[in-house]
Amino acid sequence: MDDLQQGVRNKRGDWAPNEYPDVAPFWRGHFKPGALAAWLWGYLWPWNAVTLVTALAWWWWVIPGADALRTLSWAWVLPLFAANWLGLVAYYGAFEWRYYRQRVQDRSFKYNGKFPADQPSDVFWFRSQNIDNFLRSFLVSVPIGTAIEAGLLWAFANGWAPAVDASVHPGYLVLCVALAPVLHELHFFVIHRAIHWGPLYRWVHSVHHNSINPSPWSSMSMHPVEGFAYFGVALWTLVIPSHPFVAVFLFHAAAFGAIVGHLGFDRLQLPGGAAPKSSAYPHYLHHKFFEVNYCDNGYLPLDQWFGSWHDGSAEGEQRMQERFKRKKERLNAA
Ligand SMILES: [Zn+2]
Ligand SMILES: [Zn+2]
Repeated sequence: MDDLQQGVRNKRGDWAPNEYPDVAPFWRGHFKPGALAAWLWGYLWPWNAVTLVTALAWWWWVIPGADALRTLSWAWVLPLFAANWLGLVAYYGAFEWRYYRQRVQDRSFKYNGKFPADQPSDVFWFRSQNIDNFLRSFLVSVPIGTAIEAGLLWAFANGWAPAVDASVHPGYLVLCVALAPVLHELHFFVIHRAIHWGPLYRWVHSVHHNSINPSPWSSMSMHPVEGFAYFGVALWTLVIPSHPFVAVFLFHAAAFGAIVGHLGFDRLQLPGGAAPKSSAYPHYLHHKFFEVNYCDNGYLPLDQWFGSWHDGSAEGEQRMQERFKRKKERLNAA
């Protein structure tokens, strides 16, 4: 597949798509069944389906019954941590291996023309974005996320979290799972917007933004404070009546879902030859321009509502420049 049929490459070798990402059709007042069905399919497949499958697999094979969970014990926390750790290393590693080590499609459909491994920098541990991002993701963020997940399972088992009986209200719980990705997007937008506030940005979020050219290893490369806030999405189950599976699903949505914005490619060539779209562009633009796209806007157009949306178009660029100009004027006036 020729990427120049679907986009343009500049002199630096950075590729950009001709077709810009858009919000869900119903936010634009379009309710045609075809468009709604296409959006719904995109909501399910592939990313949320992957998350649901991993969450179900963990629920059946890794997480013990409520009796064991009632006592906080390494006997079940350690296997849970090991499964999370190995599962996530394997999942993220598969993308890194195929697209950044083997480079099966080289720079085709790659937003940034360079590969992080070819660009050593002092901002990273060991001057290596790959080593830095791997260590921060898997020695900092995954343990924090697992601690929150384990704490919630323990709380549910002891009746400290509001639980809904699955045999009495199955429909409500299905709805909770179905809407969990929307909650994740809302939560992420709010915490992400907060850590872009000057002092918090410098202290906390700049760690994640060291990767201007993100790869899969960058996805969970965060300061511990951000790691806690990010995986804290599962803590909503302490307030919203649901089920321990919803807490597990929210953990998986944060852990396995973080890869989407950090793939770096607009299309990923699969072994069979197909190359589906990745949905990575809005967050790639966030890493490039910093103060746009605090979420992906795939479910809730929060950046559109708050004026920070950039879809990669000339109009998006102009909106961003005008916003920066207004901000500068405000700062000068103060
Ligand atoms: Zn990011
Ligand atoms: Zn950010």
